[in-house]
Amino acid sequence: MPLDIPRKRISSIQFGLFSPNELRSASVCQVQFPDTLYNGVPKEGGLIDLRMGTTERQFLCGTCNQSSITCTGHFGHIDLVRPVFHVGYISRIKKVIETVCFYCSRIKNYDVFPIDDNENDGNKNDDKNDINKNDDTIEITQDNNTTQNQNNTTTNTSPNQNNTTTNTSQNTTTNTSQNTITSLKIKKITEKGLNFWWSLNKSKMVCMHCHSKQPLIKRDGLTLTAFLKGEESQEGKLLLNGEKVLLLLKRISDLESQYLGFSFNSKPENMIITVLNVPAICVRPSVILDGTLRGEDDLTHKLSDILKCNTNLERYEKEGAPGHIIRDYENLLQYHIATLMDNSLPGLPQSLQKSGRPLKSISARLKGKEGRVRGNLMGKRVDFSARSVISPDSNIGLSEIGVPLHIAKIHTFPEKVTTFNLKSLQKMVNNGPYKYPGANFITRIDGQKIDLRFPNNNILTLGCIVERHMNKNDYILFNRQPSLHKMSMMSHKPRIMKGRTFRLNLSTTTPYGADFDGDEMNLHMPQSYNTRTELKQLAIVNKQIISPQSNKPVMGIVQDSLIGIRLLTLGITFINEYNVQGLLYRIKSYDNEYKQDYKQGYNGKEYEKDYKQDYNEYNGNKDYNGKEYEKGYNEDGTSLHYDNKTSLHYHNHNYDNHNNNNHNNNNHNYDNHNKDKLRPCLLRPKRIFSGKQVFSFLLQNTVNFKRGNVLIKNGILLTGEIDKTIVGTSQGSLIHLLSLERYDIESFFNSLQLMVHHFLLIHGFSMGIEDAIISKSLNNRIEHDISIAKKACFNLINNSRNKKLEKQPGMSLKETFESKITSILNKARDTSSTTTVSSYKRESTPLISSKDCNKDDNKGDNKDKSKDNSKDGNGNKNVSHENILSYDKNKYDELLQILSSKLQNIPSYSYNNIHMMVSTGSKGS
Ligand SMILES: [Zn+2]
Ligand SMILES: [Zn+2]
Repeated sequence: MPLDIPRKRISSIQFGLFSPNELRSASVCQVQFPDTLYNGVPKEGGLIDLRMGTTERQFLCGTCNQSSITCTGHFGHIDLVRPVFHVGYISRIKKVIETVCFYCSRIKNYDVFPIDDNENDGNKNDDKNDINKNDDTIEITQDNNTTQNQNNTTTNTSPNQNNTTTNTSQNTTTNTSQNTITSLKIKKITEKGLNFWWSLNKSKMVCMHCHSKQPLIKRDGLTLTAFLKGEESQEGKLLLNGEKVLLLLKRISDLESQYLGFSFNSKPENMIITVLNVPAICVRPSVILDGTLRGEDDLTHKLSDILKCNTNLERYEKEGAPGHIIRDYENLLQYHIATLMDNSLPGLPQSLQKSGRPLKSISARLKGKEGRVRGNLMGKRVDFSARSVISPDSNIGLSEIGVPLHIAKIHTFPEKVTTFNLKSLQKMVNNGPYKYPGANFITRIDGQKIDLRFPNNNILTLGCIVERHMNKNDYILFNRQPSLHKMSMMSHKPRIMKGRTFRLNLSTTTPYGADFDGDEMNLHMPQSYNTRTELKQLAIVNKQIISPQSNKPVMGIVQDSLIGIRLLTLGITFINEYNVQGLLYRIKSYDNEYKQDYKQGYNGKEYEKDYKQDYNEYNGNKDYNGKEYEKGYNEDGTSLHYDNKTSLHYHNHNYDNHNNNNHNNNNHNYDNHNKDKLRPCLLRPKRIFSGKQVFSFLLQNTVNFKRGNVLIKNGILLTGEIDKTIVGTSQGSLIHLLSLERYDIESFFNSLQLMVHHFLLIHGFSMGIEDAIISKSLNNRIEHDISIAKKACFNLINNSRNKKLEKQPGMSLKETFESKITSILNKARDTSSTTTVSSYKRESTPLISSKDCNKDDNKGDNKDKSKDNSKDGNGNKNVSHENILSYDKNKYDELLQILSSKLQNIPSYSYNNIHMMVSTGSKGS
């Protein structure tokens, strides 16, 4: 069936000012009396006239005859005795007065002529206008043309047109060709609006049309005064009240007001209030205290003030009271109307309630964070949400979230009863709202809602809806403000736990931007299967790992797991079989549900089976003796470092063989391959695995990866240490590869974290001041470097004192000096820093924990710091640099003395080391 409904397309929207007549016609009643009630009933013509609607139940709206619930309210109006300024427009009014002539109201220094850029295709334009009229479209430029064309044709006949327009139309007829050329420009000019014309005309002191001298306009609070230049203090001063300005603005022709940026439907004179709009009652509801006592809204109070003032003014005017009294009342009216709209105007006393509290104006309702726009329209409060402090949990999965039991019992999911869930839901219903897992409500098929707080032997039937407690199979939406990208809201699977905080996996803190110094986050419980499915399929954490924003992972291994994985995959890390079993125990699918998703070869069970076989094989072997292992382990304590050189040698030998085997047997079948992984890299005297081997258990056999030193072939880590560049969030990292290749990335995260945490548990990791100590010879070398730099600096200083310093291009002498000094000192710092860092062994704790183990990483920071410090100096930049060096050095020496008596023998302490410790924060971030 074809639709006959005429459709209209909105091409533009324009805001304008209401004219007094429009306000009157939109009003349902004229408010005349400052009272509210008469004999206990809203007074007709009073402030809560029933025609404006009502908020009380016993009355009906006088206009639409609806109750207080359905009536949306209607506007009233107050006819003002004297016109007043609209506070929001005073500065604009001033600009208009300064732009137009004070006497003839034409633009002071410009001869306007009609905007007519369609002279050549006038007919076409007419058609267009016709179409526009039919379409009822409103378009600014088009309408300008329309009115303009009308102006052209009707100037002589229309009695309303004033001289200005007649003049201009004469101009056009005499000067057509010129006008068509300039018309395009003019069109642009008219779009420039008030500020453009104001800036051109404000300083013109003589009108080019009537040649009269123009006054200056001054604003003082809510009043405007006009005076001739140099006569500020004399009698020539003229107070511009609303009435005078209204006359002036009314004189401005339509054409000129268009030039000034006023559209066809708003006139400059509408900036002055002659009819005051009275808001509907529901906007300013009265509160009834103790049955009889009424409290009125601030707006009603204000309107009452306005009415009182208005009636007084009217009376005095009739009585012919002296001018100053009328002026006082006029000012009062102006003040009340201004503070009705905005009660926080600068330079004006605030309008106060009887209690001394400032009245709440209309602008205060809209403005600011708690205002209508930001508080109620853009931000809304929602149901089915929870908020709590977050804390870390190393045992929680990447896409899991620890939810307090308390929250799980309040947040429910409306689940429909089917034959499949009838039993379990009945159980929940029987448990009730207080026993977990329970349910809070039932909605029967007939729509009846049953509150389960009152136990009543409820038997479920198919089709009922049970609002059951949150459980671990749900999906919830988790969010941390500020929500800057889509990863600020991700879906998690809840894990109901003790405690009162939300527990997060550490790797998810990166996309949320969260830490645990008291951060709070929000949880949202979906309320429909559609939402739930969306959360499960789209928003779940493990599907958000690669950010669409930059095509790289947003989550990686962080903090202790990062330190641990590097420690584990270090060339010197070896683990005995007993502990390897402990580590392998952590590598498995995290949740049973995910077990099915495991790809072949990455199944915990299969490993177990394989491992058992292997284990039994060796068990039958005489060489193998469980006790021996234990003994070995006990002897060594928890130390897993293999410091014995011979053993290390053996190991390397063995390891190489192992690698060679791999190379030779690239076409190994899966089982053989796995056995390769399971074979210890050292068999005698103890069966020992390397950390790299253990890491390889995390990978499927199909994983191949190369980056820097790191080489992973067929799921075996052959060389390199796993650090931030491999398991971090950089593009092309292992995390990136695994997610792109659709491996079970979540299990990788979870297994890695759990395994590494266990590894750290048995291995341990600590860093102390001793880790930052360098050898005496190295220290000497650094001191030497620094002394060279110092010498270079002194030379530079001497040169500059002897005025031998040459300016560098584009710099002043001082800047040249500064830049040279900085470059020398930076170089000194960098060389000493690199010598220290390079003196570290790969396995030293500071290097393991430092960012990416990248030697150059902290340079940038240091440079910035030195720059900042240089500003703290006392004038002489060089001295300030010197101070930093010597100051720091003394300080650290002192620190050292205090810290440990053991360290007293050490002559000096490198600031570069402490610097590194400080700037890395001594953590693996
Ligand atoms: Zn109504
Ligand atoms: Zn003039």
